[in-house]
Amino acid sequence: MSEKYTKKIHFASDNYSGVCPEAIDGINKANTGCDYPYGEDRWTEEACDLFRELFETDCEVYFVYNGTSANALALSSMCKSYHSIICNESAHIETDECGAPEFFSNGAKILLGKGQDGKISPGSTEEIILRRSDIHYPKPKVLSITQSTEVGTVYKPEELVDLYKITKKHDMGLHMDGARLSNAIASLGISPKEITWQCGVDVLCFGGVKNGLMYGEAVIFFNKDLADEFDYHCKQCGQLASKMRFIAAQWSGLLKTKAWLKNARHANQYAKELEKKLNSIEEIKIMFPCEANALFINLPSKSIEYLKNKGWHFYTFIGEGGVRLMCSWDTKTEEINYIVEDIKNSIVKS
Ligand SMILES: *Cc1c(COP(=O)(O)O)cnc(C)c1O
Repeated sequence: MSEKYTKKIHFASDNYSGVCPEAIDGINKANTGCDYPYGEDRWTEEACDLFRELFETDCEVYFVYNGTSANALALSSMCKSYHSIICNESAHIETDECGAPEFFSNGAKILLGKGQDGKISPGSTEEIILRRSDIHYPKPKVLSITQSTEVGTVYKPEELVDLYKITKKHDMGLHMDGARLSNAIASLGISPKEITWQCGVDVLCFGGVKNGLMYGEAVIFFNKDLADEFDYHCKQCGQLASKMRFIAAQWSGLLKTKAWLKNARHANQYAKELEKKLNSIEEIKIMFPCEANALFINLPSKSIEYLKNKGWHFYTFIGEGGVRLMCSWDTKTEEINYIVEDIKNSIVKS
């Protein structure tokens, strides 16, 4: 095996991957000497227009450095400090953001709902909303959903519309954590608008890093009223990039060439490939429908130990447990074959 396989980290997460050529190309094109800072440049304007084209609607677009700040700032623009945000119990905003959404919204409380396959169900959502109506309960104001979910499943438009109807009925907003929205769109095979604003999404955090960017996520306000003074919010929280053009230009590179979709399709396809190869092994249980770029498997604990001893690095605490194997825009067939071989060995030899 070649030198690059001494670190067996290929399936740990999609943010272990490098930067895709289209993003680098975007940076190079924008690197033309001096230009206006803080998003006053033509590259930022171009990227914002490309988003409006992609979503086929007028929307407000902001760029921040990472997904945690995108979520925290978006959510804090949707609620006041005495409000609550409802999400699935496995949501990144609850489990992986160190309390940032609560911190940046000055104390808004996250309330946890349940559902099948990493999704929040309409029943659970409504139960939380109707649990109490008195002044002592943090008033539910936002429903946050993750698309694709933390366990690699995808909400269909009709599932989102069902959730949207509940939020509408109770005067709440709908937030989408789209760290892997590209994977969901590739999986559904529909246009971006059909799974976002047409399903009632008010604010979208559109992830670029896991799709091939170096850094930079987009916060997109379909409900433009909520964007009021968002620029001040970004600045105060340290998320107003001075050389913003280099975030924006990466996005332009992805959007102009449709690499965002190509990259997502690639990652999804390889997750499917992995599923196909592991599905036939009796000792392995596929935990969730493989609808995006993640595959969750149940392995005997001895197999997990074997794989770890062999040097494989993967996570077992994400979503609802199990071994999570993530594919990215640059996953390769030989990498798939390599891990599958070791997984097979882990069952025979342990
Ligand atoms: C990766 C990820 C994010 C963003 O995380 P950062 O490390 O802050 O960029 C947000 N939501 C989900 C579901 C993610 O998987």
